Amino acid sequence: MDLRQAGQALAAESARFAALGWMRGTSGNLSTTLQRDPLRLAVTASGLDKGELGAEDVVVVDSDGAAVPDQPNPDQRPSAEAGLHARIAAVAGAGAVVHVHMLAPVVAAHRWPEGVVLRDLEMLKGLGRRDDETMVVPVVPNSQDMRVLGDAFEEVHDPATPALIVARHGVYVWGRDLVQARHRTECLEWLLRFTLATDNEEALV
Ligand SMILES: [Zn+2]
Repeated sequence: MDLRQAGQALAAESARFAALGWMRGTSGNLSTTLQRDPLRLAVTASGLDKGELGAEDVVVVDSDGAAVPDQPNPDQRPSAEAGLHARIAAVAGAGAVVHVHMLAPVVAAHRWPEGVVLRDLEMLKGLGRRDDETMVVPVVPNSQDMRVLGDAFEEVHDPATPALIVARHGVYVWGRDLVQARHRTECLEWLLRFTLATDNEEALV
């Protein structure tokens, strides 16, 4: 995938997430892996309305999430969060990473700061698990330092769980490409909403 195609795909996916209300203000960012050695990601540019991105609103970053020299779009800047995208791409082998500030994971992490347990739900299949499995979505504390966040991610990373909640902030979900990452994000949001909605009910059993 060249940068133009990546920019078009990132803009189209960002518009879908914005329409779902998951990229409020200018929050959130999406990335797709352009190459592995050395690692290069195309990431949505910082500070823009994610419902109105064009194919040129994209930045190429390195394994630290820093913009590489000779950007095709030199006026654009990556979010600091690109550093965690790059770490997830490197460690989990992700082809695409979604980071959105949707409410359900933040509320769930507030309720279960040690990790959010999802179990016995058909929708788990949407994240590559069996319906009778238990999946724990890890939670790490928020930080403005992407190295701290990246190290915390590596400590809790389970290759079978393609998601990470950052407490009082948002969620990262990844997959082999942008479409799979979006499908997983949609399914995870459903799982978290169900689990939150039925929490009190299960506590009474
Ligand atoms: Zn964020």
